[in-house]
Amino acid sequence: MEDCIFCKIIKGEITSNIVYQDEDFVIFPDINPQAPIHYLAVPKKHFPLLKEMDEADKAALGRILYKISTLESDLGLENGYRVLINQKGEQGNDAGQVVMHLHIHIMGGGKL
Ligand code: AMP
Ligand code: ZN
Repeated sequence: MEDCIFCKIIKGEITSNIVYQDEDFVIFPDINPQAPIHYLAVPKKHFPLLKEMDEADKAALGRILYKISTLESDLGLENGYRVLINQKGEQGNDAGQVVMHLHIHIMGGGKL
């Protein structure tokens, strides 16, 4: 997607400190952290919303969540962490999703 900030990070057109990547997704720090440790896990495929996933996306999301769990110590999250996905709705945006490229917030590093 041309004007998508996360697609640009994935393509290397915008610099970010990517701490992990594989065929499914990348992980980089959130630019405006809401917790002592705050990463974003972002699928390489552009799609805005969970309800738009096809079967391959669903399988990839399962792999991504599992992979995050194996990276706990690498990411400094041995004391536990929160994963969160904001979703815009058809009639409103109660969750406040800003970036319309699906992403998983990973937050920890202190009491939340
Ligand atoms: P959401 O409200 O779930 O759409 O959250 C979007 C998140 O992306 C926010 O927490 C922003 O701080 C973060 N963000 C926006 N631009 C960048 C960027 N260039 N690099 C890292 N994080 C970003
Ligand atoms: Zn995108």
